[in-house]
Amino acid sequence: MRNSKLRLLPPVNEVIAELAKTDACNGYELSAITWAVRKALEKARKILLDDLNQDGEELNSGKTKKLQNFLHCQPEEFVPVFRAWLYKEIRAELRGYGSMKRVINATGVILHTNCGRALLAPEAAAYVAEQAVVYSNLELNLETGNRGSRYSHIEEILAELTGAEASLVVNNNAAAVLLIMNTFAVHKEVIVSRGELVEVGGSFRIPEVLKAGGAKLVEVGATNKTWLKDYQEAIGPETAMLLKVHTSNYRIQGFQHEVPVDELVVLGKESGIPVVVDLGSGSFLDGSEYGLPQEPTVQDTLKSGASLVSFSGDKLLGGPQAGIIIGKKELIDCLKKNQLTRALRVDKLVLAALIGTLRFYQRGEIGKIPVWNMLSHTKDDLRKDALKLSEMLAGLPGLEIQVMDAESCVGGGAFPTAVLPTYVCAVKPKQNSVVDLESFLRQGDVPILARIVKDAVVFDPRTLLPEDYQVIADRLREWNP
Ligand SMILES: *Cc1c(COP(=O)(O)O)cnc(C)c1O
Repeated sequence: MRNSKLRLLPPVNEVIAELAKTDACNGYELSAITWAVRKALEKARKILLDDLNQDGEELNSGKTKKLQNFLHCQPEEFVPVFRAWLYKEIRAELRGYGSMKRVINATGVILHTNCGRALLAPEAAAYVAEQAVVYSNLELNLETGNRGSRYSHIEEILAELTGAEASLVVNNNAAAVLLIMNTFAVHKEVIVSRGELVEVGGSFRIPEVLKAGGAKLVEVGATNKTWLKDYQEAIGPETAMLLKVHTSNYRIQGFQHEVPVDELVVLGKESGIPVVVDLGSGSFLDGSEYGLPQEPTVQDTLKSGASLVSFSGDKLLGGPQAGIIIGKKELIDCLKKNQLTRALRVDKLVLAALIGTLRFYQRGEIGKIPVWNMLSHTKDDLRKDALKLSEMLAGLPGLEIQVMDAESCVGGGAFPTAVLPTYVCAVKPKQNSVVDLESFLRQGDVPILARIVKDAVVFDPRTLLPEDYQVIADRLREWNP
């Protein structure tokens, strides 16, 4: 019985050829259709196998019978009944094709922009889930019964953590910079050092964002060196602000000079011009305690006298995608009145995620923030984790396993030159190319992203979650060159 039905499962090519004669899969590429057919056939095979108990007898539960009618039909009915089930299944798979799903990040890049940057802490995610299904006082003042502000919920926490008079949260840091330009610098001049005209993640370029916000860029200094007098000489009647951009994702080393925020602030005060700082991946914590290079924190930057400081929510802060602007109340009030703020405003779920994350900073529970937890893994811990994975993989045919020294990166355009020592589990295919192995890992049910180093695929435990180890081991067990 078992063999007869399993043997009746059609080969992938045959199903694809049949589908091509119908319009069932119109609009999908062949690669997607092949993927969906494979998945549906795998599912059918599993259903047929699972339906047998250990003695090879069929289990006849009513539930499976109803859902998988092909299981219990007569052999002569199998082909039409199964085909109907299969086509429905393939269409369902195609609908899910390409949609957002879990991947395993074995690259060691903590803030991997392509993989969604910071992971939320489970407690913060639980707060999001809770707020998602209930009504809330999002924009309601419970004392007066009047309309309140969604920003009030977060302003107090941000004030406590940063010392800021006022704050505003928008969609992301790009939106924050755009909003600042559009509020204070339309048709006016914004002075920026030539060393700070950065591009972030392909689509965010400081000169373009200034232009989009309606501001005129005035470049000063040289790529490697900008002095205070360069700013001074550029100030004129049309100057709206001095903008300092944190060169998050690259470093100029060697013959280099930039003007620190506090010096710009002195100049700005003399001329009555605000100093705005785009910190990029702003951090509340001093990274040097985690083996990272020392960089000014959000609080330091504010203390230096900047009028406004903006930074991302999902970089080193470890929260959801958001752009946080803190600073002088008078200026924040102007931002709040801009009509663009309505278009750039954050969703309540983002606010919940951000509040949930900031609570860890309030309570000093930094280890509960996944980004900082991953940053704080010691080389010893990582060695143990790499060894654990290598033990799980030991003896798999066709693969050579080795634990070795390596380096992880922070990612997300933060600390580009930082070196985080780690240990990786390197897996080298004995015959096939390492490129095939990497792509095989990427195309499993749970895609696994790993780096290629020379002729091996390497798994960095720094960014692995406890449940990832088994998935990696299972997938590699399927590797059959
Ligand atoms: C990352 C970054 C941005 C963009 O922030 P998003 O939150 O991704 O919009 C802007 N400026 C700098 C300096 C950055 O590093």
